[in-house]
Amino acid sequence: MIILVLNAGSSSLKYQLFDFDEHKRDVLSKGTVERIGIPKSLITHKGKDGAEIKIEGDISGHTEALQKVFDALCDKDYGVLVSISDISAFGHRVLHGAEDFNASVVMTDKNINICKGNIELGPLHMPANIACIEACKNLMRDTPNVGVFDTAFHSSMGKTAYMYAIPYEYYEKYKVRKYGFHGTSHRYVSGEAVKYLKSKGEKYSRIITCHLGNGSSIAAVKDGKVEDTSMGLTPLEGVSMGTRSGDLDPAVIEFIMQKTGQSISEMLNVLNKKSGVLGISGVSSDFRDISTAAANGNERAELALGMFAYRVKKYIGSYIAALNGVDAIVLTGGIGENSTDMRARILGGMDGLGVEFDEKKNRECKRGAISEINGNLSKVKLLVIPTDEELVIARETYELLSQ
Ligand code: AMP
Repeated sequence: MIILVLNAGSSSLKYQLFDFDEHKRDVLSKGTVERIGIPKSLITHKGKDGAEIKIEGDISGHTEALQKVFDALCDKDYGVLVSISDISAFGHRVLHGAEDFNASVVMTDKNINICKGNIELGPLHMPANIACIEACKNLMRDTPNVGVFDTAFHSSMGKTAYMYAIPYEYYEKYKVRKYGFHGTSHRYVSGEAVKYLKSKGEKYSRIITCHLGNGSSIAAVKDGKVEDTSMGLTPLEGVSMGTRSGDLDPAVIEFIMQKTGQSISEMLNVLNKKSGVLGISGVSSDFRDISTAAANGNERAELALGMFAYRVKKYIGSYIAALNGVDAIVLTGGIGENSTDMRARILGGMDGLGVEFDEKKNRECKRGAISEINGNLSKVKLLVIPTDEELVIARETYELLSQ
């Protein structure tokens, strides 16, 4: 089955074309469209033989972006398809399923309308996700669209974990609760961890997964089901991130608003876009830039890295308590997969909990493969597992449509 996986942001569109079946998961082509609706849009497309092509020009919206992606996929020089009708299905990343979707679904008009009702839960991403689904439906009427929700894997959480301790009526009337995000990544790496541990004859029921990238979240997974996760109603809750504050005393918001005269939306913009390691370091939201600044003696950059690691460590500790122990801790995402230093900061110094971190294995960790970075006597396996959200979306699309 030829599946085009689409991940639409407000001004971007990432795509990956799979040839997928029970035994095959070949990536035929992939790319990104950037600056949609902004002058000088750019398509970076990997075509035949992995050669990278850059296509410039203005793209007004998601329908036009998709049309250009179709053109690139069918281009006679660098395309990989003869005709766009070779695509059997579209798999879409959708940010928020609220309580309406706890599994992937075919995006019928009814389901699209339910998603439209949930826009206020994800005002930055949901309009783009929906626009992309509608564009596919308009351009290829008979090809099915599957929605894979970032929140769905977390829907197994119990009420004790997902409720906020605020008046109950806000949950009843407005569905205010913790939902969690990065579900496809947590699902994929926890599944890969189970496969790995099984193959080694190890215990594998309690796993803590740490997706550490521009956005970061932690999940406690028991027997394949999420018990708790760090992000909340929106992705703002949890550990500090590239630009997001993560957890803070809600009273801070009014205090700063009074001092600075900022409105609530300006304040939320500060918490979402100007906080986290960017806000603390004043250098960048990119961990590579901050690491370089810290290595050159920038104290605030060092503080930002230390705070990030400390907060991730605290979540891991609380989930060890919630799960009554842990069999494996998994690190993934751009930082988890690549930053030797951040892995050491987070996982070092936890031997009191039976977590024995191996510095040498950490340094020798191979990119793109599962690596074990715990000492031989560690009671807890420490695994670095590359995530693959697009693969999960392709798999969900294939499985749903093959039923
Ligand atoms: P993601 O959102 O998963 O793509 O992750 C992006 C984050 O990973 C950025 O903050 C990058 O700085 C960080 N990252 C990628 N490679 C490295 C690396 N080698 N060392 C430290 N951070 C990295």
